Amino acid sequence: MDLNFSTADEEYRQRLRTWLKENVGGGGSANAVMKKAEEDSGSAKDPLAGARAWPRKLHDAGYVGLPWPKEYGGQDASFTEQVICAEEMARVRTPPLINTIGLSIIGPTLVQHGTEEQKKRFLPRILRADDLWCQGFSEPEAGSDLASLRCRAEIDAEGFVVNGQKVWTSLAFLSDWMFLLVRTDPDAPKREGISYLLLDMKTPGVSVRPLRNAAGGQHFNEVFLDDVRIPRENLVGELNGGWPIARSSLDHERSGLSGVIALEETLGRLWRMAGQLKRGAKDALEDPSTRRALAQHWIEIEGLRHLGYRTLSDQIAGKPPGAGSSVGKLFASELRQEMTRTALRIEGPLGPVAKRSPHVVDRGRWHAAYFDALAHSIGGGTSEIMRNVIAEKVLGLPRSQDD
Ligand SMILES: Cc1cc2nc3c(=O)[nH]c(=O)nc-3n(C[C@H](O)[C@H](O)[C@H](O)COP(=O)(O)OP(=O)(O)OC[C@H]3O[C@@H](n4cnc5c(N)ncnc54)[C@H](O)[C@@H]3O)c2cc1C
Repeated sequence: MDLNFSTADEEYRQRLRTWLKENVGGGGSANAVMKKAEEDSGSAKDPLAGARAWPRKLHDAGYVGLPWPKEYGGQDASFTEQVICAEEMARVRTPPLINTIGLSIIGPTLVQHGTEEQKKRFLPRILRADDLWCQGFSEPEAGSDLASLRCRAEIDAEGFVVNGQKVWTSLAFLSDWMFLLVRTDPDAPKREGISYLLLDMKTPGVSVRPLRNAAGGQHFNEVFLDDVRIPRENLVGELNGGWPIARSSLDHERSGLSGVIALEETLGRLWRMAGQLKRGAKDALEDPSTRRALAQHWIEIEGLRHLGYRTLSDQIAGKPPGAGSSVGKLFASELRQEMTRTALRIEGPLGPVAKRSPHVVDRGRWHAAYFDALAHSIGGGTSEIMRNVIAEKVLGLPRSQDD
């Protein structure tokens, strides 16, 4: 494994830096960057116009869907270029992408398992944020034990008729499409009776009810499916063959270097906050325990980065991300929580001060970040489940009897 970037890679980095300088500037606010993208595109007014315009602009410049085949709107670029792209975008703090679920989960899944027709129909629209996607896996009685899902699809001449409920569906209220798991053979062993479908959210019978999270925000939702018709051509892979495809979607969800980059960004903010806060006559940053904690976080982020490079080198060798992606997911979500705890320790009694108070530190960011970090060790599979996957699939330990 060679961890150095080639001359061509570094040239690519320089070209990208120039483009980002012209289009993002010196770290303007996310809203300003999206507004400018919207103005540049002259797009018709829709409530998400700014949020869609930014990924479109990136796509026009060739900076999304890098490893996807050119014939479906991708760049046929190397994974290394993808990493450089992610690193550089994090460095200048580009706005978040509204089509992340499409880009990072269903897009790669369709590249791997979709029919030719599905790739042509869906991939270009994912890249340009024409379609926003949500993930309909979890159900009220099927989260960690996903294979127990009960959402049922009957099969007739035209396709599937779906009845059931999904829950914790991130961004369902904004989404145009959902990829979902349904039970198509209730008599088969539970992993062998599941199919993987693509659902147009405007289909009659789909209702979305938003749920408020612990921090008061609207992010995930309940989705009810009552006699929802899905055409046959929206089946991904074989009938009753959805489980291995779902596993590959989860591996895509848990892999990638974007987590590392986000953590690096968080550490930078933490460092700046500690540099501005006074502890008596001194800066908080001069406190040895603060310095030790920040250094420890830096070391762990570097460890995580190299783990990401290892996955990357596997991908370059043609291997899809496997169960090893669970190691990075577990480590990143636990580290994120530890970093927010460090922030609140540094802030001390000022940590919980409300956003509008004159005494608030760093606009109350760390209090909110602490709650947000808790969700990271649940969404995409809990930390306990990651440990189970690592034990079984990475370390080869035996499964428990009742699993
Ligand atoms: C922010 C966020 C966004 C999400 N977005 C989506 C989404 O877009 N689409 C979607 O489908 N889902 C989504 N989810 C749901 C998420 O995948 C589930 O919450 C997660 O898989 C856990 O399932 P559960 O909530 O049913 O908890 P449960 O499975 O009931 O688990 C409860 C507790 O028991 C532990 N536990 C369960 N089984 C075991 C075991 N075998 N060994 C050890 N411990 C165990 C768990 O670790 C957990 O601590 C999201 C969740 C969050 C927090």
